[in-house]
Amino acid sequence: MKQSSLLPLIIFILMFLWEQVAPYGDYKDKKANFICNILIALINTLILRLIIPIQIYQSLDQYIPNFIEFKNMPFNFLITILVFDMAIYWQHRFFHLNDFLFRMHKAHHTEKFLNVTSGMRFHFFELILSSLYKVFLLLVFNPSLENYLWYEAILLSFSLFNHANIKINFKLELLLSKLFITPLIHRSHHSPKSVSMNKNFGNIFVFWDKLFKSFEIQETRTYGLSGCNYSNNFKAQILIPFKKS
Ligand SMILES: [Zn+2]
Repeated sequence: MKQSSLLPLIIFILMFLWEQVAPYGDYKDKKANFICNILIALINTLILRLIIPIQIYQSLDQYIPNFIEFKNMPFNFLITILVFDMAIYWQHRFFHLNDFLFRMHKAHHTEKFLNVTSGMRFHFFELILSSLYKVFLLLVFNPSLENYLWYEAILLSFSLFNHANIKINFKLELLLSKLFITPLIHRSHHSPKSVSMNKNFGNIFVFWDKLFKSFEIQETRTYGLSGCNYSNNFKAQILIPFKKS
């Protein structure tokens, strides 16, 4: 197992334990469908093993001239994380702007009880499109593969952290949120209110939302999509992109 893939595993275990000890929302009477999310995550892992952006990138790279090479730049690790984080900010924003793309992203937003497993709940159509976009980014920017793998590990770790149902000291979270996306910021993106849902597209760093005018900070305790009542089971969630509304 690569060192970078250990990071999200450690974060998952930590967040899961934190949710048991100090949860943010009380879900005792509600039903979060952990099995649905874990099944989606398992399928996504399988798909990623088949469509690994790195392998497509390596097979295409020989045919495409390299104008930009992050791997030869100073501070290449930081540059890779920053540029990829900004690119995925825009990917997320476009998935909300475009109706066709939003159909793929909907399954992520139908979650009514945010928890650590929600951070892995992405429809595999969205995952495939995102993987192809990442191949494009790899071909354009040519980071070192080690840096790219660390970026992926950090991205997934932040996704697990930002969706986790965990209580954090408010002052500490406000301080953290000066630089990073935290659960407080990401929860409002899962609000059923469309104004809030179309804010806070960031994944790791908070400054893209501030720079591109999509930042808001608002405590939210209700999540999901208004006007949509999809069952929260695996089959219903997988079929969402084929539904008209
Ligand atoms: Zn979203």
